[in-house]
Amino acid sequence: MDLLVVGSGLFGLTIAERAATELGLRVTVVESRDHIGGNAWSTVDEATGVEEHRYGAHIFHTSNDAVWGYVNRFTEFTPYEHRVYARHRGEVFPLPINLGTINQFFRTGLGPDEARRLIDEQAGELAGREPGNLEDKAISLIGRPLYEAFIRGYTAKQWQTDPRDLPASIITRLPVRFTYDNRYFNDTHQGMPRHGYAAWLQRMADHPLIDIRLGVDFLDDGHAFSRDAAVGQVPVVYTGPVDRYFGHRYGALGWRTLDFDRQVLDVADHQGTAVINECDEDVPYTRTLEFKHFHPERTHRDGTVVVREYSRFAEGPDEPYYPVATPEDRARLERYREAAAEEPRVLFGGRLGTYQYLDMHMAIGSALSRFDNTVRGWF
Ligand code: FAD
Repeated sequence: MDLLVVGSGLFGLTIAERAATELGLRVTVVESRDHIGGNAWSTVDEATGVEEHRYGAHIFHTSNDAVWGYVNRFTEFTPYEHRVYARHRGEVFPLPINLGTINQFFRTGLGPDEARRLIDEQAGELAGREPGNLEDKAISLIGRPLYEAFIRGYTAKQWQTDPRDLPASIITRLPVRFTYDNRYFNDTHQGMPRHGYAAWLQRMADHPLIDIRLGVDFLDDGHAFSRDAAVGQVPVVYTGPVDRYFGHRYGALGWRTLDFDRQVLDVADHQGTAVINECDEDVPYTRTLEFKHFHPERTHRDGTVVVREYSRFAEGPDEPYYPVATPEDRARLERYREAAAEEPRVLFGGRLGTYQYLDMHMAIGSALSRFDNTVRGWF
């Protein structure tokens, strides 16, 4: 073994693939789960034939041509364009907030300039007062009526906190489009892997010099690929949680997690689209996903798979999904970064190793540049 990669998510797989293909290195990848691919992994429901994203809906999008070129070596992408809808008081509206949302909500037929004037007027409610919390900040950006309908309940559920008790700094902008364009992403490239996420990720791992060991936790003692056996002996790329690597010595970093309530329904189509945000506070879940709509080009059997997502703070063994990043978390992270810099030939990468939310293209882009800037220099 020339290189040990901890974690087979997109960051770890990209490093492993590049090291094997470009440098001809023998790479061992240890993965504590029973499958590769990290949070992008998908499985197929046997009864319906629907591909399910096991860790929340994943849509690939990027404006980075190098990343797009790289991922297309392993999979083709369908021309899927993501659109999200919002449910509020029994009515469904298009998101991000656009001319269609505004005209449906206010029962108007405004053009772009009139709509802009209306929103500016409503956003002027604070009359120059500095927003003291998230609610004020959102009102200063889009006005109270749209905030109360589409942002307040959703945000309160996401953070389990009244938006008046959240810092204004959580949001810097709330996009409002004065056109009817409701494509969720503005990126140059987007789509779904044509043969599924599992096939894409498997293809990245399929290399004679890459040895994948599933069900192996790097931080457990007593095996040949553990931290104690490997660090200092072989270069390591570590994509697990940075605080866990150091035994939480400066305290645990805060994360939000999701609970998934999954149902297989005996109907052909439950909601007519892939994602509906549930904006009202009296509906306890934040989103409803219906996976078959990610692949309109596929023929599915009867039935559909629907998942309701519930958001809460992660504790103990929960999956860490989104960094909370309070000022205390950021201070702790700084200390972990200093400790990480002292580790001999260990690169901390990916979303858990750097405590950052990363979209897939960001995880891949970061792995490609850190492969060039750090890993190459080790050999
Ligand atoms: P991960 O995928 O988390 O992989 C890390 C791997 O390391 C895991 O498999 C873990 O089991 C393993 N590991 C950790 N510790 C150890 C250890 N000690 N020993 C062995 N193995 C270990 N991105 C998009 O581009 N579009 C989307 O629509 C999108 N939707 C998302 C929805 C949700 C709910 C979430 C949470 C993320 C979403 N993402 C999306 C982001 C995407 O999941 C990440 O970009 C990607 O997972 C990052 O890859 P990674 O390798 O950094 O981390």
